[in-house]
Amino acid sequence: MRGALLYGPRDVRVEDRDRPTIVEPTDAIIRLVAACVCGSDLWPYRGVDSYGEPAPMGHEYVGIVDEVGDQVTTIRPGQFVVGSFIASDNTCEICRAGYQTSCVNRQPGAATGAQAEYTRVPLADGTLVATPSMPDDDLVPSLLAASDVLGTGWFGAVAAQVGPGKAVAVVGDGAVGLLGVLAAKHLGAEQIIAMSRHNPRQELAREWGASDVVVERGDEGVARIKELTGGLGAHSVIEAVGTQESMMQAIGATRPGGHVGYVGVAHDVALPGKELFFSHVHLHGGPAPVRRYLPDLIDLIWDRRIDPGRVFDLELPLDDAAEAYRAMDERRAIKALLRP
Ligand SMILES: [Zn+2]
Repeated sequence: MRGALLYGPRDVRVEDRDRPTIVEPTDAIIRLVAACVCGSDLWPYRGVDSYGEPAPMGHEYVGIVDEVGDQVTTIRPGQFVVGSFIASDNTCEICRAGYQTSCVNRQPGAATGAQAEYTRVPLADGTLVATPSMPDDDLVPSLLAASDVLGTGWFGAVAAQVGPGKAVAVVGDGAVGLLGVLAAKHLGAEQIIAMSRHNPRQELAREWGASDVVVERGDEGVARIKELTGGLGAHSVIEAVGTQESMMQAIGATRPGGHVGYVGVAHDVALPGKELFFSHVHLHGGPAPVRRYLPDLIDLIWDRRIDPGRVFDLELPLDDAAEAYRAMDERRAIKALLRP
């Protein structure tokens, strides 16, 4: 089969690889219908993180079940399924509390990489959610978005306690931030402030429900959000970047008693205790338990009530994965979809 490997900084190659096989009796093998490049894939791509090269890439996936292990009971070959980047049993106490990304049995969701023709999904019964039937092709991008970026934006909004009557600010205009806007709108936010300097992203944010766009960053960005919220700051701030600057911007933009939902993967973030102490804000976040939201998100997509697939503004064949990474790295594309 064909599959993407990262050989080193800015060196992605699609090569012939061994087709994955069932390893554990709880595994499934999925034939991918679509995959994509994640903002978090750009960290190793830029050489900031290393996975040990050559590394199979990709952790967002939708596909058709090809084969299941002996102990898989609910997932069947032929089903169209959506999974997430962490495999979970969905039965342990942590999973049942809604934190499947911290499952006591957690494993990588696409163990052999999802930017490929096939991938192996561990704990298939707990990890995968089947759609009611074979989806229309135009729903595939939205279902793929549910696999990570939509679920992550959704968790950011829930963690930030977004709800009716609230003012929400979103730090970060990548796919997760934009889908945080969509989630905030769906969860009933009254005011949604998107922080973005990029025109096409601002437009999508507005279409998904942003009432205001702030182009300033840092202290100026914080001041602008306070100005737009009666001098108080937002009730709920979704942090979708993961840097020191974005985290401090999120904390600074939150009113006392408000909530920050942080879902950008943290890189060298060190929170100053004193500022945190006097900010009076709640902080909650981490790797989004996408699995918690998948059944509801699939329903919303199936009924065409949300259209998160619009976040994909570039579609390429899997063999052009290197160009997909380049386009996202250079911010020419918000998010690239790959068709195996
Ligand atoms: Zn679990």
